[in-house]
Amino acid sequence: MNSLLGTQVWVKRDDQTSGAAAGNKIRKLEFLLARAVHEGADVVVTCGGAQSNHARATAICCRELGLECLLLLRSTDPSREQGGNLFLCQMLGAEIRWVTPEQYRSHDRLYQTLAVELRARGRRPFFIPEGGSNGLGALGYVRAMQEVRSALDQGAAGGASFDCIAHACGSGGTAAGTAVGAASHNVGETVWPMAVCEGREHFEKRIANLCEEVLRIRSGLSAPRPVRVQEASLGPAYGVASAPQRQFLIEVAHTSGLILDPVYSGKALYGLYCLRPLPRRVLFIHTGGLPGLLAQTKELQPFLSPAHGA
Ligand SMILES: *Cc1c(COP(=O)(O)O)cnc(C)c1O
Repeated sequence: MNSLLGTQVWVKRDDQTSGAAAGNKIRKLEFLLARAVHEGADVVVTCGGAQSNHARATAICCRELGLECLLLLRSTDPSREQGGNLFLCQMLGAEIRWVTPEQYRSHDRLYQTLAVELRARGRRPFFIPEGGSNGLGALGYVRAMQEVRSALDQGAAGGASFDCIAHACGSGGTAAGTAVGAASHNVGETVWPMAVCEGREHFEKRIANLCEEVLRIRSGLSAPRPVRVQEASLGPAYGVASAPQRQFLIEVAHTSGLILDPVYSGKALYGLYCLRPLPRRVLFIHTGGLPGLLAQTKELQPFLSPAHGA
């Protein structure tokens, strides 16, 4: 990894935060579902793409807590969606309602309609935003940075804080929590959210808003560290990796044993690779996403051959 990226890289293994629910979403859900339980909810509603890691983690945690889970999933053609995260959501018996990308854009309105529908049936719904990204969910990454601080205090990574903390960015909650947490617990100088769907302008505004929300909830925390959204990770489209991105994540597996995915973590680390030379000490948060990889084995298969130089 260090020789591949030409600097000292440590990996925060948030792909190991749990069993099947592992990834960055479970850190947000720790706070969000505690609120749902506290409010006496009996059904949790959230939304995402057809291969949403967030939907899968939510569905698992809901079952563990004895809650129903209703998912608004986005697809142009639900009949073509299968495997990976979707299979797990189906296996958990989550109620899935398909929405078109156009309907999805105003999912706030769909939430309002659903709230009326569910309450009319005597249910007590709790609504979680896309990716679990609001101020409350972002607290999960403030706590993650606290965890990194105590690892450093125990001598991990040589004990010194990082020049830069990088991770895949899709809805901004991880970035906001990391930026506030890195400042509050002195673990890193800057945060590099590696964009996988929207551009820098979109995310910098969104992350700044989320940071404000975090500080409104916990006024004792410090103002966020500088956030520098990177676009080198973008690729052709959300959920679609380029040939070099696909090749890269196979090379990483070969050389380090680290399994990245083509939607988030693989694009993020490839983006860092493209941005060399990097700061001296980098912390890369591995945000999980294994089921998303398993839903794209057909696309990745051709890159396994030695001809592609892995
Ligand atoms: C959701 C997700 C991200 C992005 O995190 P956000 O907080 O939504 O920006 C990154 N990696 C994986 C694997 C994810 O599932």
